[in-house]
Amino acid sequence: MGVDTISRLRARPVVVPMARPLRTASGSATAAPLLLFDVVTEGGVIGRSYIFAYDPALLPALTSIAAELAPGLAGKGVSPVSRMREFQARFRLPGMQGLVGMVVSGVEMALWDALGRLTAKPVATLLGGEPLPLRAYDSYGMIDPVQEEKALRTSVDDGFLGIKIKIGHPDAGQDVEVVRRVREIIGPDVELMVDYNQSLTPQEARRRVNGLRDFGLYWVEEPVPAEDLAGHAYVRRATGARIQTGENWWFPGGCRAAIEASACDFAMFDIMKIGGFTGWMLAAGQAEAASLPVSSHLFTEASAHAMAVTPTADWIEHFDLAGAILREPCRPAGGRITAKGPGLGLDWDEAAIATYTARF
Ligand SMILES: [Mg+2]
Repeated sequence: MGVDTISRLRARPVVVPMARPLRTASGSATAAPLLLFDVVTEGGVIGRSYIFAYDPALLPALTSIAAELAPGLAGKGVSPVSRMREFQARFRLPGMQGLVGMVVSGVEMALWDALGRLTAKPVATLLGGEPLPLRAYDSYGMIDPVQEEKALRTSVDDGFLGIKIKIGHPDAGQDVEVVRRVREIIGPDVELMVDYNQSLTPQEARRRVNGLRDFGLYWVEEPVPAEDLAGHAYVRRATGARIQTGENWWFPGGCRAAIEASACDFAMFDIMKIGGFTGWMLAAGQAEAASLPVSSHLFTEASAHAMAVTPTADWIEHFDLAGAILREPCRPAGGRITAKGPGLGLDWDEAAIATYTARF
């Protein structure tokens, strides 16, 4: 047993208040259900990561899966790629898409964090790169531009070069009015992205996206259900808009399928669904080969490391999901985010975790 051997895995469920409520075309949330991982090595080093359950109803199952995986990790090396290979073999028959994939990606990220702490280096450095100030976009939900005008102006004043809002209101005219007003507030020089969160049919998306031509949108995200790659390709062809998708791709195979379908102009990896850093790096190679710019989805702290070594890195998403339980929440500077170390740079605020512990 060396210091780089796993001793145990702990997974703690919490429900934490979000800095900014998450309102999408499919619902609204003001608190984030998270599962926090601590991988403890034989040498006493702790590797940390978190995953996002989206719905608190999924926390008990995620916690239970993590508890079932823990005994099999004890005594194994802090070797994220090797552990991911084992997970892939073990879960080949049931498949890893869904809750299992979320848990194994969380474990994989915690192993990288442990490796970084063992070597006193940021994960970006372990991956062969270095922490870089990455341009970030400030990520909003469905907003009322009157109520949130001040916040939008603050984002611009803080130096963000991109703003994303969610649309897909029941009335298409409301989408147009919101986009018009936000464009007026942020001005012509800040990039504006919109996200439908999978809420439209391809035909409705064609109609609505054509109605937004005048606003110089940087990208139109997930206009139709994520799994409808042909629908994405249709909207792309029919409107000429630049289509973004990828936050719901499962593992690198999801990236491959989207590239084969010519589904998008941009790719957005979610490190919890793409398979941790192991999956991210493999998908990033595919994106480079297909000339697809890659942005990140949530998980700002971990994504900053992955984006630093992504050949076609485009934008990092700034959305403060876990700040309530972090000693040092991610703070953009001049609209840019730089990966922190050692490891992933995550340190828990244990008092906050005690306050927000989910009980079931
Ligand atoms: Mg999205």
